[in-house]
Amino acid sequence: MTATMLKGKTAVITGSTSGIGLGIAHAMAEAGANIVLNGLGTAAENAQVVDEVARHGTKVAFGEANMMKPDEIAAMMAKMEADFGGVDILVNNAGIQHVAPIEDFPAAKWDAIIAINLSSSFHTIQAAVPGMKKRNWGRIINICSAHSLRASTHKAAYVAAKHGLAGLTKVVALELAKEGVTCNAVSPGFVWTPLVEAQLPDIAKAEGISIEEAKKKVLVRQPSGEFATVDQIGALAAFLASEPAAAITGANYSIDGGWTAQ
Ligand code: NAD
Repeated sequence: MTATMLKGKTAVITGSTSGIGLGIAHAMAEAGANIVLNGLGTAAENAQVVDEVARHGTKVAFGEANMMKPDEIAAMMAKMEADFGGVDILVNNAGIQHVAPIEDFPAAKWDAIIAINLSSSFHTIQAAVPGMKKRNWGRIINICSAHSLRASTHKAAYVAAKHGLAGLTKVVALELAKEGVTCNAVSPGFVWTPLVEAQLPDIAKAEGISIEEAKKKVLVRQPSGEFATVDQIGALAAFLASEPAAAITGANYSIDGGWTAQ
């Protein structure tokens, strides 16, 4: 990826104040894209992340929207389309997790996970597509998961949302196949981020094991025995946004150390 590969393009990345989204923001900014960050931090935290990503030398803004709220998503997308003269790259990355057996799974957590991990992508895509079609160029990248292809116990909402997002990816790819707009999924296995770190105490408690043992247990699914890194996810997303990836659409790229090869 060269520093000019995404030059002149603007990327909106949801949930990019932390973890994978922030890794993608760095990779795309390094490749020359202007970046719109989004997430749920305080004003001071958000300003700090904007400064951090702006060091790559491209224009960086913060797009305020809670991904649970369709009206806020629409307003953010419209503002960024106007401020940047178009959203060329859309990365749907915001996501949360909750782990519980199906009979104890709180309905409010189900609703929140479906809203943030699935429905928000419908809303951002719906807002971005008219401009992309008009310009005959666009890249939509949905951050799914190995859980878009495989199930695990205690993750009913997450697995349902990620399978749904993988399906949405294919429909959007087909509908836009002749419009210069691609839509692909990236499906990480376990990546070392705050989202994964936060699950370890629950796993440790449920299994009666230490946090260190929980970490090893998580990686049992991943034949490489290693967490993927946010830089690796960022590099793949930046490639999918680039010109050489123009013929790739409707794909779901696993980046999971071999998990879904099993
Ligand atoms: P993270 O917790 O580090 O970051 C999540 C980001 O989403 C943050 O910026 C947070 O502010 C934002 N966010 C959460 N709720 C939001 C809301 N309502 N509105 C706007 N922003 C919101 O998580 P991560 O591990 O980097 O995960 C990012 C994505 O990657 C998620 O979709 C997750 O499902 C997926 N994923 C993660 C892993 C992993 O191992 N970390 C594996 C597979 C898939």
